[in-house]
Amino acid sequence: MEKHEELLRIKHLKKYFPTPNGLLYAVDDVNFSISKGETLGVVGESGCGKSTLGRCILRLIEPTDGEVIYQGENIVGCSKEKMKELRKELQIIFQDPYESLNPRMTVSQAIQAPLIIQKIYKASDRVGLEKKTHEMMDLVGLARRVANSYPHELDGGRRQRIGIARALALNPKFIVCDEPVSALDVSIQAQVLNLLNELKHDLDLTYIFVAHDLSVVEYISDRVGVMYLGNFVEVGEKEKIYSNPMHPYTQALLSAVPVPDPTAKRERILLEGSIPSAHKPPTGCKFHTRCPKCMECCKTQAPERYEVDDGHYVYCHLYDKERREQQK
Ligand code: SF4
Repeated sequence: MEKHEELLRIKHLKKYFPTPNGLLYAVDDVNFSISKGETLGVVGESGCGKSTLGRCILRLIEPTDGEVIYQGENIVGCSKEKMKELRKELQIIFQDPYESLNPRMTVSQAIQAPLIIQKIYKASDRVGLEKKTHEMMDLVGLARRVANSYPHELDGGRRQRIGIARALALNPKFIVCDEPVSALDVSIQAQVLNLLNELKHDLDLTYIFVAHDLSVVEYISDRVGVMYLGNFVEVGEKEKIYSNPMHPYTQALLSAVPVPDPTAKRERILLEGSIPSAHKPPTGCKFHTRCPKCMECCKTQAPERYEVDDGHYVYCHLYDKERREQQK
């Protein structure tokens, strides 16, 4: 893939939630970077921490530790005023547009709210606001006739288009798309994915696309990060991850994806047990309790990151050459 300028770098990002049962390790030392114009898909089972990761990056949830370096500056710990400024550039599209929209606001009011809050338009500037609203509705394919409709009067696809228009109204550079199509019918999912792709190219956007559906992530992403219990276990270009998954967890996830060719055979890898609690993650490799290739060392030692191909990283002892030599 062509190399681009780095937009965002995440360093040792952690989010631990205090609960009555002790700490919940939602995001546990995550590291990666994203280039301008790139889409990084983040995939994993429910509860793996992928949505919390997206929200920590935007500081909608305060990280426990670590750095979010946006355009060279660590935004963790920066002032409220600075963060308000940055909100224009760093946006989110939520999973459920119905929940994220105020039911008492019409489509035009929902699109105008961030413009007024950020003081880009005065609330009294009716002409300017209406012009901008129409511009945003045209951009996301919403008919202007629904400008005065309420969210409950619209279908899921159109509600999600309002969410996208709101996120784009402030001219952002980076958007966390948090499961933006998983609440939609399959036929509408494709329309919204195509829209997000077109907007990315037309407006030079950068996305983190969080999803549990591997086919959706494959369609939209340039690179993919696979998460398990708060950590990335494999990161790389989409083609490499999907054609040659290296981590046993990625292999198991991909083995469950239906293949469109009925003559093609794919052996399903069934994982034993359920995902362990994030309150008490297993020692060593967190995947060792379910891994079909678990070795003795996996139970006590957390694997490091190994580069198995250019830009393709795996966190697994199987790719530690020295260890393999010792075991021969
Ligand atoms: Fe499996 Fe060990 Fe690799 Fe973890 S480090 S994925 S337990 S082989």
